[in-house]
Amino acid sequence: MRGSMSDQEYDVIVIGAGPTGENVADRARRGGLSVAVIESELVGGECSYWACIPSKALLRPAAALAAARAVGGSRQAVTGELDAAAVLARRTSFTHGWSDDSGQVTWLDGTGSTLVRGAARLAGERKVEVTGPDGSTVTLAARHAVVVATGSAAAIPAVPGLAEPLVWTSREATSAETVPGRLAILGGGVVACEMATAWRALGAEVTMLVRGPRLLARLEPFAGDLVAQALRSAGVDVRTDTGVARVRRLSRATPTEIWTSPAGAAASAARAGAARASAAGAGAEEASAGSSGHAADLVADELLVATGRVPRTADLGLESVGLTPGDWLAVDDSCLVGAVPGGWLYAVGDVNHRNLLTHMGKYQARACGDAIVARARGELDGPPPPWTGLAASADHLGAPQVVFTDPEVAAVGLTEAEARGQGLAVRAVDYELGHVAGAALAADGYQGQARFVVDERRQVLAGATFAGPGTAELLHAATIAVVGEVPLRRLWHAVPSFPTISEIWLRFLETYGM
Ligand SMILES: Cc1cc2nc3c(=O)[nH]c(=O)nc-3n(C[C@H](O)[C@H](O)[C@H](O)COP(=O)(O)OP(=O)(O)OC[C@H]3O[C@@H](n4cnc5c(N)ncnc54)[C@H](O)[C@@H]3O)c2cc1C
Repeated sequence: MRGSMSDQEYDVIVIGAGPTGENVADRARRGGLSVAVIESELVGGECSYWACIPSKALLRPAAALAAARAVGGSRQAVTGELDAAAVLARRTSFTHGWSDDSGQVTWLDGTGSTLVRGAARLAGERKVEVTGPDGSTVTLAARHAVVVATGSAAAIPAVPGLAEPLVWTSREATSAETVPGRLAILGGGVVACEMATAWRALGAEVTMLVRGPRLLARLEPFAGDLVAQALRSAGVDVRTDTGVARVRRLSRATPTEIWTSPAGAAASAARAGAARASAAGAGAEEASAGSSGHAADLVADELLVATGRVPRTADLGLESVGLTPGDWLAVDDSCLVGAVPGGWLYAVGDVNHRNLLTHMGKYQARACGDAIVARARGELDGPPPPWTGLAASADHLGAPQVVFTDPEVAAVGLTEAEARGQGLAVRAVDYELGHVAGAALAADGYQGQARFVVDERRQVLAGATFAGPGTAELLHAATIAVVGEVPLRRLWHAVPSFPTISEIWLRFLETYGM
C-alpha cells in the first residue's frame, strides 16, 4: 500500500482511480486542495483495461481492413485476412497485460495526489476505511469531500444457470486470449453489438440473443437496423425477440447450453395466442423443452452476458451514511449526493447513472472537482449555476456517443421519439449519407443514413444521429450544434469543406428548406 497505514486527513478523498476519479483528483489539486485517491485494482479503471481501450483495440484492425476493402484500387492490395493473434497481442499491449498501471500512476503522482492501494468503504460522515492488499486497515478523514467514483459492473440477469465465472462479462470479452469457436451474446446494446462485430471479425461464429425487436434500442431505429443488416451479412446470427430461459455449463472445459424463450413482441404474441401463433409457438416449444430437459436451442463455447450495468456500491459502506447498498447514487449537477446531509458526499461517473460514458464521466469530474474547490473557498453556496464550469449541465441534453460497429453509429441529443416524448414540436430530416460526394469517395457503394431532429419552435437542433462508415468524426460538429443551441440560420454559414462527408450538414439544411 502506498501512503502510510496510520490515520490521515485530506481535504478530498476519492474512491476509485478510473478516468473520473483521476480527473476529480486533478481538478481538486489544481484548486490547491490535498487529495487521496484509493484504488483497489488498477489505476485507470475499467475504461483502460476492460472497456473502452481494449474493445476499441479489438475493433480497429477490422475497421481498417474494411476501409481498405471498401475502395477499388486499395481493395486489390488486401490479400489476406486479419491476423487474430496479432490483433489480440496489440490489444494486450494497450492494457499493459492487465498488470502494469505505472503510466497512469505517474500521471496521478504528477497531480500531487496521494495514491492509496486498497478497497475503500465509507465509515460514517467524511470517514473512509481502507483495507490494503496485506489486510491491514486505515481510516482516512476528509475535511471537505468524499467522492465516490467506483464505476459499474456487468449486470447478470436472474436466469437459471447464468452465473459467473462460467459466463463472459465485458471483462472477459475484452481480455480473452483466444478466439472462441462459437460465441453466444445475450443482449443487443452497445457492448453486445461492438463485441459481436469484433469477435466475428476475429473468426468466431457469433449468435446474438436480443430480447427486443431491434439492436441499439435507445438510438434512432435506422441505426440498429443498419448494424443488424451488416452483422447478418458478416455471418452473425442475430435473433431478435429472443430471451434466455435457462443455461447450463458444467465447467469451463465444457460448452454452454442455452435454452431460449420468446421475448418482447414474440412473447406478447404468444401470450395473446393470436395471429402470430405459429412463430411464437415454435419459441414456446423451445422454452418448455429447456425446462423439461430437452436438447438446448444453442450450444456455444462462450456466452457473453451484455445486458446492462449495476453500480459498484454493494460493498461500499453506504449504510453508514443512510444510503442503500447496491443503489445508484443520485446527484445534482455538481455531482453532490443530495440525500446525504452536510454536503460532503459526491458521486461521479458511471456510479451516478447519468451517462455511462468515459467522456461524460470526465466532464462531470471536472465540474465536481471545481465545485468542491469553490465550496471549500466559500465561493459556492447551494446548487451550481448552470452552464458554468461548476455544473455538468450538458448531461441533460443527450450525451454524444459513438458505437464502434461497422457501420459506426454516432449520436447526440434526443432521438425523434425522445423529443416528441418530451412534448417538443420537432421535425426529423433524414438524408442518405451515400449521396454526399465525400462519402462516395470514401467508400465504394457507401451505405449510411443521417437524421437531424429540429426543435421547430426554437429553430435549433435537438439531436442528430449518423450511421455509416467514418461517421464518428461527424459527431463533434453535431455536439457543438446541439449544446451550443446554434440557430439553424447561423448554422447555414458554417460551410462544410468539399468533398468531405461533413457536407451532410449542407444537405440537411437544404432539405430542411434553407
Ligand atoms: C466493453 C465496454 C466498452 C466501453 N467503451 C466505451 C467507449 O468506447 N467510450 C466511452 O466513453 N465509454 C465506454 N464504456 C463505458 C466506460 O468504460 C465507463 O463509462 C467508464 O469506465 C466509467 O468510468 P468511472 O471512472 O466511472 O468507472 P471505472 O472506469 O469503472 O473505474 C472505477 C474504479 O474504481 C475502483 N473501485 C471500485 N470500487 C472500489 C472500492 N471500494 N475501493 C477502491 N477502488 C474501487 C475500480 O477498481 C476502478 O478502477 C465502455 C464500457 C464497457 C463495459
